[in-house]
Amino acid sequence: MPRLWIDTVGCQMNVLDSELVVAALRRQGWDLAATTADADAVFFNTCSVRQHAEDKVYSALGRIRLEKERRPGLVVGVLGCMAQKDQALVRSRAPWVDLVVGPGQLHRVPVLVEAIRAGGGPQVEVALGRTAGSRVEIARSFESYDPDRDPTMRPNPFQAFVRTQTGCDKFCSFCVVPHVRGPEQARAPDTILAEARRLVAEGCREITLIGQTVNSYRWTGGGTTHRLADLLVRLDAVAGLDRIRFVTNYPRDMTPDLVAAVRDLPKVCPYLHVPAQHGSDAVLARMRRGYTISEYREMFAMVRAELPHAAVTSDFIVGFCGETDAEFQATLDLVRESGFKNSFIFKYSPRPGTKAFQRQPDDVPEGVKKERHRVLLDAQTEASRAGNLPFVGTRQQVLVEGLSVRDEKRGSAGTPPAADGEAQLTGRTPCDRIVVFDAPLRLVGRLVDVDIVAAGPWSLGGLVAESAAGAPVPGGAEVACGTPLPLYPIRLPGVGPEARGT
Ligand code: SF4
Repeated sequence: MPRLWIDTVGCQMNVLDSELVVAALRRQGWDLAATTADADAVFFNTCSVRQHAEDKVYSALGRIRLEKERRPGLVVGVLGCMAQKDQALVRSRAPWVDLVVGPGQLHRVPVLVEAIRAGGGPQVEVALGRTAGSRVEIARSFESYDPDRDPTMRPNPFQAFVRTQTGCDKFCSFCVVPHVRGPEQARAPDTILAEARRLVAEGCREITLIGQTVNSYRWTGGGTTHRLADLLVRLDAVAGLDRIRFVTNYPRDMTPDLVAAVRDLPKVCPYLHVPAQHGSDAVLARMRRGYTISEYREMFAMVRAELPHAAVTSDFIVGFCGETDAEFQATLDLVRESGFKNSFIFKYSPRPGTKAFQRQPDDVPEGVKKERHRVLLDAQTEASRAGNLPFVGTRQQVLVEGLSVRDEKRGSAGTPPAADGEAQLTGRTPCDRIVVFDAPLRLVGRLVDVDIVAAGPWSLGGLVAESAAGAPVPGGAEVACGTPLPLYPIRLPGVGPEARGT
């Protein structure tokens, strides 16, 4: 049985893509390798949103070169956004790479791998560039990749991403996503519904709808148009599903009907990630974000009025081309006034192929970017701490996700499982706050009530309520790592906000 090792960086799209690639190869008889040394194929599912993410892949490819020299039959693959963006460049920088496949061609991976193993030589398949044909031709070249799911290929079986659309048509000046993920294309609501029902039948309790701008979702067919709010109404009725989330939102598409759907549908979580990116109108214009900061504030006020307890989070770029002290101050003011649950803050990284790269100099010195990043992060940390404190003394419903970081490290270090099967666990509230608590491992995958007893900027500490666990579990007790959780087949370094473009 051939074995695959896959490394995934980037956003939720990549996490889902890796799950699907692994599942497709498993159906062809492949298994997963624990290390590259055991693998017959080594894949890197890549991200192009920041230079740093690309540099890391080229470093990893350098390390795998020796392995390839020792075992010429090893298939080395680069998948995802960097494959689409760099195409032939990948093989000119790393000629030992056998497979280069963009996000629109992932359905071809099993066939291409077999071709390589049969002696067919290197295989490169990518979609058309954004100016290489008509919109229809380009869209067709980015095929949606949605084969059957495989619950054992996810970090856990009770949570899953579900794609609502691919691509993006917004063309913000700093962002490479529209170039590497192609035009925005919605999946049919019936297809999404059917996938959600299948996931629930397999034991999934929470789905997160994902799209680069998920709230721009628009599907027209049979004489009707479906927007995200319509989709949420239908998903909310799926029996057995407990929670629905959606990321990432474009501010201008955060419409009153969508906010009302979040307010009125019991399964839709009160958590909205709506990246502002900057607090200055001049910078937003240079970023081509398509809204002013007053419009963002109006949207934010509408969300606060309708959903006073919802968590709102944002992304920010510091040090964008030409950013002055006064412009940075506008971002700082926005963070201080808004009470975002958290913000993902990035130093601007110019991306070849984007408008900003072509037309605006990257003229903010690295030291200034670093200092602004620190100042903004400090402000957000204070806001996050202040936002978490009122949770102390409340009871929260938590979906238990698994071991805390502390106990995961202990597990990796080989600490023997505790006899009573208890460990420090982590889970999330509906508003996406992380809660850490000591509890029996059997609670993983369950919704439990947790009494919050402590709050920091990034997480809450709690005690499992008596009704949920049979008896309260003492907080803060030193508990050894319990039995390992269900298999975690895909390594997920840097997953999440690191590479988010929206
Ligand atoms: S930042 Fe978001 S909305 Fe803008 S182009 Fe990138 S993915 Fe699209």
